[in-house]
Amino acid sequence: MNRRNVHLLAVLAFAGSLIHAQGRVLPDQVRTTADRITADQLKRDLDFLASDELLGRNTPSPGFDKAAEYIVARLTKAGLKPLGDEGTFYQRYEMHNTQIETAAAGLEIDGKRFALGSDFVVRSLAASLSGTFPVVYVGHGWTIPAKNIDPFAGVDLKGKLVLAHGPRALPKGIEIQQIGRITVGATNVVAEAARRGAAGVIFIPHGVSDEAWSEMRTQTVGRRELVPPVPSVYAAAPSTALLLSRATAEALLAGERISGAEMMGLGTTADYPPSFELSKRVSVSLPVRTTVHRPYNVVALIEGSDPVLKNEYITIESHLDGAVSTPAVKGDGIYNSADDNASGSAANLSIAELMTTAPRAKRSMIFIWDSGEEQGLWGTRHFVGNPPVPLERIVAHINIDMIGATRAPGSPDAAESRVTAANDVLLIGPGVLSRSVDALLERVNSEYLKIGFDRSWDKPESEFFYPRTDAGPFLERGILTVGFTTGIHDRYHLPSDEAAALDPKKMERIARTIFASAWVLADAAERPRIDQPIPSTVLRFK
Ligand SMILES: [Zn+2]
Repeated sequence: MNRRNVHLLAVLAFAGSLIHAQGRVLPDQVRTTADRITADQLKRDLDFLASDELLGRNTPSPGFDKAAEYIVARLTKAGLKPLGDEGTFYQRYEMHNTQIETAAAGLEIDGKRFALGSDFVVRSLAASLSGTFPVVYVGHGWTIPAKNIDPFAGVDLKGKLVLAHGPRALPKGIEIQQIGRITVGATNVVAEAARRGAAGVIFIPHGVSDEAWSEMRTQTVGRRELVPPVPSVYAAAPSTALLLSRATAEALLAGERISGAEMMGLGTTADYPPSFELSKRVSVSLPVRTTVHRPYNVVALIEGSDPVLKNEYITIESHLDGAVSTPAVKGDGIYNSADDNASGSAANLSIAELMTTAPRAKRSMIFIWDSGEEQGLWGTRHFVGNPPVPLERIVAHINIDMIGATRAPGSPDAAESRVTAANDVLLIGPGVLSRSVDALLERVNSEYLKIGFDRSWDKPESEFFYPRTDAGPFLERGILTVGFTTGIHDRYHLPSDEAAALDPKKMERIARTIFASAWVLADAAERPRIDQPIPSTVLRFK
């Protein structure tokens, strides 16, 4: 090859690289940094976080503390800035664990005593409940403004007990749309009773099988909730609700306008009688004892490079806690919570560490390992209620929850249709919320690993779109959410959710894709934003 040709080739190569550079959103240096996320490192972190030693990382627990120490040590070494309380990585909140003093609990009707567990059970506990109360019957107890259904109209409930059929009675001929914990266009009796200042709710049993009843009798219902509570669909029940046995319901309604037998004969969908106040009062004794806990999130910051845009933020979050429960299954009593969510937590750790070595994006990034997700999104609710930066400056929230499962042949989930295929990940959020961000993420992906984005959970009416994850509290406050997951399998929330069932190679591809996506969102010239209507199924809180 002669010199002139070499020169010509160099010119062509230069021109080619310019065209290339202009057409791409993912810089080579960012891609090569993302390439340093390895299956080996992810596997080591996954194995530690999901080890028997950590006992599934319950909130709060010594196992969770060990997991958090592990994350914090690595963040410190990588040089991320602490964004928790008083210059630490720990953002604490208060959680109250309230339990009923069962021995002293009971009801009194017409001078007769009824005992917890045999004559009534507690369905939800909001606070202690003690005193003698008037009782107001409200039928099915649903309010549906669009259908002019309001059994509470014209009745004073302040300081009274609300009596309704339940817990699953419905107005006749009305279908109520339920998506996870969301009821679209209707309010149930437990919420409405609280809103109207009632003391509590009593259910006349409807649709309660003998089997369900005997199971409920042995359960002790307590309340574990962050204090002060941050509003969310995942907040604990706002009213204390008791479910009566059939015999207790008969005793309560004896001598009233309508007998217990007649009431219980109405079924779960009926034209229930109009509301009325009972002639008798009911005495309730439901004393509680409360212990106060201080769980925490781990929160870290990488500052952006742009003097103005660094005041905007991308949050990248994974819940570090697991769903720890009882009993032992097949002799295994440790709920390792490997896929849910040691997998996401390990990915988030590699992403955060390596992000410090990448070229700085214009916007800042906040990395969160939260707690209490499995209990009621405590950590993320506390975060949005007490944000370390103004919420309106968080431009997008990335949620990583369960990313280790695969339907690849030979894997434990090969026949599991709810798990994504070998090269696929469920992408939740941008397809509904933002055409511009969706297009940007597709572009990043097409320039990099070309993972298949599975959109099957991306339907506004899907319970998985909202509110099943930590993305919920962010979306409830109008923040764009982007969720990554490989789906649900039959190890979900069981002791068998162990690291050995997961695919670190797939985790690597997903973590690299999230790394590249987060960087491009943080560096985009235009602020990433919601440009589609937020579905009406999403409740909104300030
Ligand atoms: Zn999870």
